Amino acid sequence: MALINSNIPDDIIQRSLVGECTKEDALQLLDVEPLELFSLANELRKDSVGNTVTYIVNRNINFTNMCVGTCRFCAFKDNSDNGYRLTTPEIMEKVRGADQSGSTEVCIQGGLLPYVEVDFYQNILELIKAEYPKMHIHAFSPMEVYHAARLSDMTIKDTLVELKKSGLDTMPGTAAEVLSDRVRKLICPGKLKTAEWVDVVTLAHKTGIPTTATIMYGHIETIGERIDHILTIRNIQKKTGGFTEFVPLPFMPYNNNLGEEVLRSGKFSTTGLEDLQLHAIARVLLHTHVNNIQASWVKLGKKLAQFALNCGANDLGGTLMEEKISKSAGATHGEYMSPKEFEWLIRGAGRDPKQRTTIYRSL
Ligand code: SF4
Repeated sequence: MALINSNIPDDIIQRSLVGECTKEDALQLLDVEPLELFSLANELRKDSVGNTVTYIVNRNINFTNMCVGTCRFCAFKDNSDNGYRLTTPEIMEKVRGADQSGSTEVCIQGGLLPYVEVDFYQNILELIKAEYPKMHIHAFSPMEVYHAARLSDMTIKDTLVELKKSGLDTMPGTAAEVLSDRVRKLICPGKLKTAEWVDVVTLAHKTGIPTTATIMYGHIETIGERIDHILTIRNIQKKTGGFTEFVPLPFMPYNNNLGEEVLRSGKFSTTGLEDLQLHAIARVLLHTHVNNIQASWVKLGKKLAQFALNCGANDLGGTLMEEKISKSAGATHGEYMSPKEFEWLIRGAGRDPKQRTTIYRSL
């Protein structure tokens, strides 16, 4: 392994190679010169996925911004007269647009509507699969599944089985925020608890529904809690192998109550350096377990996302076509990136672009 000027102790490097770095190792790695950490993450990335950088042609569909949730970081929810809820023909119109533009995936998530049971979600899946059987449906966060199960008086397992039967292919591993009950109590007290998130995701994997994994960091959590979160993902992966990727998502502090508190304390979410360090630490801790670390161009901006490819990331996410959630919280990086621009950005980083499917098969 060719590390630049490394002061990283040899035993940490050895543990990183076999996917056994500890929390203490991670804390130590965050204390070395950032370039040394990036170099280690970059070498591990080469080792597991080589020179290829992937992206997906997909479309986001947020079917409603009305929500009974109370997350303090949310700038998306709108229960006023300006709130919207797409009808099924409107959802289908968006799927049609996705199909026509060559999307292989629709990513469907929405606010938590009162009184909707599992059949509401099944109906969306079945309508899409009837008309577009090949379209991959990546939909419904663990919180939406938990909500649907609760309102339908069903177990999580039965809910997942029904959703899969109706056409659910994979699920976004969102609603994870930071997997610490201390943090969750302060930022999203109404959301499912850490153990419940772990439960939904583990059951999804066991039902044959792979998921992504995310972390929404940069508000009130400690560095130790970020590391614990990544180690929780690693532990689940050791048991199920059901995660396709890990996506660090920096907190967006605008137009939300938690953001106001963070801004008042003199912080502005995260710095670019912190973002890159988190991608690198994720690569190190998840090496040999989760192969794909995504740099989100919507959250980081295109240029920082490109640089993250030297810090452990190997995927840039999707074309999206529309993006409402980050935009409402202050992200200004746009809602669409064309395949051409992805390829240009990736080649500009000296890497080989490849369009992928949701489950990381090449097209
Ligand atoms: S983050 Fe999701 S669940 Fe929470 S309030 Fe916003 S829309 Fe609702």
